[in-house]
Amino acid sequence: MFDERLIGHKVIREKLLTRLQAGKLSHSLLFAGLDGIGKRRVALELAMRELCFKRSACGACEGCKAFLSDPLPVELPNLLRIAPEGKAGIIKVGAIRDSDLVEGGVITWAAMAPPLKCHRWILIEDAHRLHGAAANMLLKTLEEPPPGTHLLLITHRPDAMLPTIRSRCERIAFAPLALEEAWTVAVAHGWEESEREAWTALSAGSLRYLERDAFDLACAQVDAWLRLAAGASFRDAAGPLIPDRTSELALSEQLRQPLELLLALLKDAARSRAGNSNSLLGAPSLGPWSAGIDQLASSPVNLKGPSDLVYQALRHLVRNPAPEPVLREIGMSLR
Ligand SMILES: [Zn+2]
Repeated sequence: MFDERLIGHKVIREKLLTRLQAGKLSHSLLFAGLDGIGKRRVALELAMRELCFKRSACGACEGCKAFLSDPLPVELPNLLRIAPEGKAGIIKVGAIRDSDLVEGGVITWAAMAPPLKCHRWILIEDAHRLHGAAANMLLKTLEEPPPGTHLLLITHRPDAMLPTIRSRCERIAFAPLALEEAWTVAVAHGWEESEREAWTALSAGSLRYLERDAFDLACAQVDAWLRLAAGASFRDAAGPLIPDRTSELALSEQLRQPLELLLALLKDAARSRAGNSNSLLGAPSLGPWSAGIDQLASSPVNLKGPSDLVYQALRHLVRNPAPEPVLREIGMSLR
């Protein structure tokens, strides 16, 4: 009955479907959980099932095919996607109020009658980027959506959301995929058994490194931190850490990844210092890089220093227009 290609989150998916069929699904839902674990696909599945000719999200009929095109259109007969745009990566008020996305704007769209036996689904991706006027405009719709409309807000940073938005939604917490589940998806995307260890270690139950470019960049970032820790100069080693200004992705989002990878490295180094056998600390997360990590662990560096700097940088990410000085400072603190 489920789309088997959608792996994981089985319990959540069953519950959502049962509640939807019983007419007991909240009209404003917040899907929260790590980036890249399939929250958006679970949301899309709800809408896709209704448009499916067999009402099963079969993946083969014309209704389903609309959901499988890449890139996914902003508007489908029963679904509207709102996503952050531009370098700043924010959801602009125009996207909600004006006809930027759909004729008449989002609120008018939501109030129109849905296709037969369908709901209207409004998907808000990276909902933590909803601020200011755009957020205010949505508040009333969130509180009292037009009949037959469901708002699905998706975020990996619920902490960064406006409390007024958060409190109007029922929160559905998503756990990471099991490593085995994530790897099954990776294999279907052409990853080889020989790459399993490194891919699984970096991905940690997410699908964020499914594309080879994304994976290669993450590997290069781990290596860059380890090289900086081993004494390489910032100019020689830091290239992969510095956000690409020509990228569509907001600088702050680009910077988040190397910072989070460094936190994982530092945790592993702390584990290594404590003796990897310490069961309270769990297994090292970046096993394939253990040689470099052990070297960092055996250095005299106080690991709390860089780790504090990383947390500080993460807190100020959005307001920080110049990432190089921050990266340089963190790099220096590793030695
Ligand atoms: Zn179908």
